Amino acid sequence: RAGTGMEPALLFFSEEMNQRVKEHLRIESELREALANGELLLYYQPKVSLRTGRIVGAEALLRWRHPVRGLISPGVFIPVAEETGLIMELGNWVIEEACRQIRRWREAGLAMPPVAINLSARQFDRGLPQRMADALERHGVHPGQVMLEITESLLVRGADSVIAIMNELVAMGLALALDDFGTGYSSLAYLKKFPISTLKIDRAFVTGLPHEEDDCAIARAIVTMAQQMRQEIVAEGVETREQMAFLRELGCDQLQGYLFSQPIPAADFERMMGDGHRLALAPPDR
Ligand code: C2E
Ligand code: MG
Ligand code: MG
Ligand code: MG
Repeated sequence: RAGTGMEPALLFFSEEMNQRVKEHLRIESELREALANGELLLYYQPKVSLRTGRIVGAEALLRWRHPVRGLISPGVFIPVAEETGLIMELGNWVIEEACRQIRRWREAGLAMPPVAINLSARQFDRGLPQRMADALERHGVHPGQVMLEITESLLVRGADSVIAIMNELVAMGLALALDDFGTGYSSLAYLKKFPISTLKIDRAFVTGLPHEEDDCAIARAIVTMAQQMRQEIVAEGVETREQMAFLRELGCDQLQGYLFSQPIPAADFERMMGDGHRLALAPPDR
């Protein structure tokens, strides 16, 4: 056989692919068990108002308590679930659990802020509004208590049907936030077509504030245009007081990040809300 000199590389590549496929299959089957065995849980990360320093929302973030490997972050298993289609079941579990948690809080007489649920693009089909309506109804949850976080990949997909589904959700009283904004392809002008009330500036741009000129320019542009479109602006991944100060100057509405709190279990979040809703590092009223 004629040697091309490429066999070793190809072999290596296919072995790597093989490993990757195996790893995905393993994660997928373990994920199915995790769903059945109750190994999944939601953590909550507060969103803080820059104006008042109060917690005005929480984002529900999925965690997997693996019996052997401990707490696994969604960055590892969500992409696998998206590839295999298991994201539907996973996503439905998240919707259900978030509504269940909101009900528990209500039944305990606790005043808790709205909860944001992350949605994968694959969950965004014609059935979504009904699935949301069912979950809200099952737990007696007011739609104002729930927000949905979607990503830009959805906007570039198939505009008309996506807009129709969004409009249905908004008509039900559910607010939509655009997550990881700035990392995708959607221009701000394009955004106007979608009934989105909140933009979340991706952590990638927040990290460089206030020292990286490019990040400052991007953050400023996003905030300015969002304000013109009357959208709320949330900055993700705020870790330093300097970042907070810069974002406040820009006129950002809400902050989320380790400066205030990591994502925490529901019970810890309840305690945090009980401690006067006001975080130690939050800015004073002006
Ligand atoms: P995301 O929705 O953009 O969530 C923000 C991520 O940034 C979270 O990671 C959060 O823990 C992390 N984060 C927040 N503040 C800081 C900070 O100050 N510094 C740093 N370094 N990180 C910060 P997490 O929980 O690992 O989630 C990663 C991604 O997984 C999420 O990004 C979201 O896209 C996805 N995800 C999480 N839960 C769900 C879910 O229930 N459904 C779906 N479809 N996706 C989910
Ligand atoms: Mg999110
Ligand atoms: Mg985000
Ligand atoms: Mg992000």
